[in-house]
Amino acid sequence: MSKPLTPMMQQYMELKKQYSDCILLFRLGDFYEMFFEDALTASRELEITLTGRDCGQKERAPMCGVPHHSAEGYINKLIEKGYKVAIGEQVEDPKEVKGIVKRDVVRVVTPGTNLNTGSLEADRNNFLMSVYRNIANYGISYVDITTGAFYTTQVSGKNKVLDEIAKVGPKEIIINENMAEETGIREELVQRFNAAVSVEGPGLFDKELAAKRIMDQFAILSLEGIGVKDYPEAVVAAGALIAYVSDTQKSRLGHLDSIQYYAASDYMHLDMGTRRNLELVETIRDKQKRGSLLWVLDKTKTAMGGRMLRRMVEQPLTDLEAINARLDAVEEMASDGLSRAEAREYLAPVYDIERLMGKISCKTANARDLLSFKQSIAMIAPIKGLMSSFKSSLAGEIEQGLDTLDDLIALIESSINEEPPLGLREGGIIKEGYNEEVDQLRSASKDGKNWLANLEMQEREATGIKNLKIKYNKVFGYHIEVTNSYQNLVPEHYTRKQTMANAERYITPELKEMENKILGAEEKVIALEYELFSEIREMLNSHTARVKSSAMNLSMLDALLSLAETASKSGYQRPNLNEEGKIDIKDGRHPVVERMLDYDAFIANDTYLDVDSHRFSIITGPNMAGKSTYMRQVALICLMAQIGSFVPAETADICISDRIFTRVGASDDLASGQSTFMVEMTEVANILRYATGKSLVILDEIGRGTSTFDGLSIAWAVVEHIASKTHIGAKTLFATHYHELTELEGTVEGVQNYCITVKEAKEDLIFLRKIVPGGADKSYGIQVARLAGVPRNVIQRARILLDELTEADITKNAERNYPDSSYETFEDEQLNLFDNRTHPAVERLKAVDINSMTPIDALNLLAELVKEI
Ligand code: ATP
Repeated sequence: MSKPLTPMMQQYMELKKQYSDCILLFRLGDFYEMFFEDALTASRELEITLTGRDCGQKERAPMCGVPHHSAEGYINKLIEKGYKVAIGEQVEDPKEVKGIVKRDVVRVVTPGTNLNTGSLEADRNNFLMSVYRNIANYGISYVDITTGAFYTTQVSGKNKVLDEIAKVGPKEIIINENMAEETGIREELVQRFNAAVSVEGPGLFDKELAAKRIMDQFAILSLEGIGVKDYPEAVVAAGALIAYVSDTQKSRLGHLDSIQYYAASDYMHLDMGTRRNLELVETIRDKQKRGSLLWVLDKTKTAMGGRMLRRMVEQPLTDLEAINARLDAVEEMASDGLSRAEAREYLAPVYDIERLMGKISCKTANARDLLSFKQSIAMIAPIKGLMSSFKSSLAGEIEQGLDTLDDLIALIESSINEEPPLGLREGGIIKEGYNEEVDQLRSASKDGKNWLANLEMQEREATGIKNLKIKYNKVFGYHIEVTNSYQNLVPEHYTRKQTMANAERYITPELKEMENKILGAEEKVIALEYELFSEIREMLNSHTARVKSSAMNLSMLDALLSLAETASKSGYQRPNLNEEGKIDIKDGRHPVVERMLDYDAFIANDTYLDVDSHRFSIITGPNMAGKSTYMRQVALICLMAQIGSFVPAETADICISDRIFTRVGASDDLASGQSTFMVEMTEVANILRYATGKSLVILDEIGRGTSTFDGLSIAWAVVEHIASKTHIGAKTLFATHYHELTELEGTVEGVQNYCITVKEAKEDLIFLRKIVPGGADKSYGIQVARLAGVPRNVIQRARILLDELTEADITKNAERNYPDSSYETFEDEQLNLFDNRTHPAVERLKAVDINSMTPIDALNLLAELVKEI
């Protein structure tokens, strides 16, 4: 029979059972210990030594531990690796209990509920998301518990869910069981979004409880006021998050005091691939901010402003008025350099008010945090004052929304010491004059020490013991020490306490009384200071809503100033927004490429697209000519306009796009088990399915991943379908090396050819990078391969082959009839691009009776036929 576990191990096992999905940190003295599987995982992940501990059984339990004072760093490491950590603390004072001290989990830290702001990226929200699937409807909610930002929405269809997740970039996602039933979804979410994913039961995603949880959390009586009443899935998703947060934090977080419902249509819809391809907030290659659109635009001064701008870039608007409101503000800020500089200067010393407020609410803020908070909110008044320089309506709203929070400044100013210690249990936090009792206790302790010094002198005089000393130690407290040579002078009222080798120690009732006063005062003042500090923190907490609103307005101001700064420094212009479906850009530039190069080195280009004859541009030109750059620049300019940003162009007249689609380059999607060509076709299918006449579509090659004729046929049919107004009619830029597609100009309505120019100089190519009307007939791939360093003999061989192939192709082309390029004619017919349909010339030839013709007739017919073909 196996031996029972030790009582301590039994306690551990019981706790572990409740938190089986977490690594349990079990407090033993000054350490957090981990056992069994947890110990094996932690020792591997944290590179700490694995030991063992007697647990009552034959085998020792694997164990490893981290010191409690430095546990934060280890916890963060585990969180970054996607683990959940449960912190088991002693919840009884060991001095007051006999036997085993009770332990319980006081907090669960997960990637999405990490309150340790030091380990989080400052300019990025740390979102925890929940996805609730109810047949085809999905509720999506996300919250950043370090700032209190809380959103919820509802979409239908899995693709939209993935797009929304791509937009938000959560660190952790909880999904309901119904969602988890979608094959491979869990793995897909982990791999695609690098988020920790867990499936939670119906208790968390409870329909009945959700509304109640929301109402309790936000202290409201009905869901109507927060606009979520008609979105049942959004309600369940938000309710699940509230429950999950309170389960992990073991308390209700006061600063989560509101939630915002939004409809996905409030923002431009960008699918996952498009976000990635346009490199909005990070580059495709190394996932860095440098090289992204955000990197170019971000000149914010505060972390909050940085997060706001990131959100703006990730969700461009679709409402004309709202966009113009932003543009008005950016325009006046861009033109008033002095006020802009002054406002940015005031913003510079502002710390992360949102996260500091979060810490205050979660009771993790210390005295130094309160001082940073005060220093930051103190800047609101001068900023508010300066806002009168700006006249736009948005600037006015910001000004109105800025509460100078004078009462909170005064509270901290009057109560918190200017240089407080880090800890909260060592005193020295509360300022003199704030609380009478603190002052009295402090002076009691100080006066007591003076009194002791006096007593020492008095006793020396009274007894004649010249070297009499009053000393202190932990065991006996204050005492009088008399060396052996003066023992005969010790008065009777001294009580002997301890005998030393060369001295005796005494106490007197008077001395003990004072000792009580001094020691009691010190202990009391520390406890009282902590109590007062907690009170002050709580007082601040009760103003969460005011603080959050001011912080939000400061972030918006910072983000707008950043857009204005970039506009002014980079020579951007205000775009005009039209409702005629026109995109007319003069001298447009790529915001990132121009910055990477050198501003002067970038060649600007025009763009014209409308809903009629110029809906679809087929762009040809050599490799490396700049086709991709050009198309992306158009997409980015349109997107920037909808963010409310100025754009890199001399002039830009832009219509609002409901969506931007990109199909760019080749990439395997191993995460979802798709090949390169499959990914490409999935993206194409997505565009054909969802693009509308109000969308902007960027196609950078289609059909290159399969055989030439298959690819060309697909590309051709796609052009016809997108260009056709009865089908989609989206404004489209399509770059291709299939020069055959230039045939479509003039036959498919709305299609225009453009090419990017190059100059051939002997063997070299000079890239002029100018886009002009017309089609190109060569790709100069071999020249580009030579530039790329492909060996000379391979290049030479390629040239010979190219000549041979071109010649063969010409002969073949002579026999070939291209299909009639009117899309409608082919709609119901299976398109077979190179069918040898009978040419009318052949029909005429067939009808010829050669015997009845004169040589002249024959010659004339021949001339006519040649002309005809
Ligand atoms: P491929 O057909 O081979 O994909 P491409 O035509 O799409 O080539 P891009 O990738 O757009 O070519 O451009 C190649 C490089 O040329 C860019 O990385 C950029 O450095 C430079 N470039 C592109 N456009 C411009 C421009 N307008 N002005 C200056 N340099 C440019």
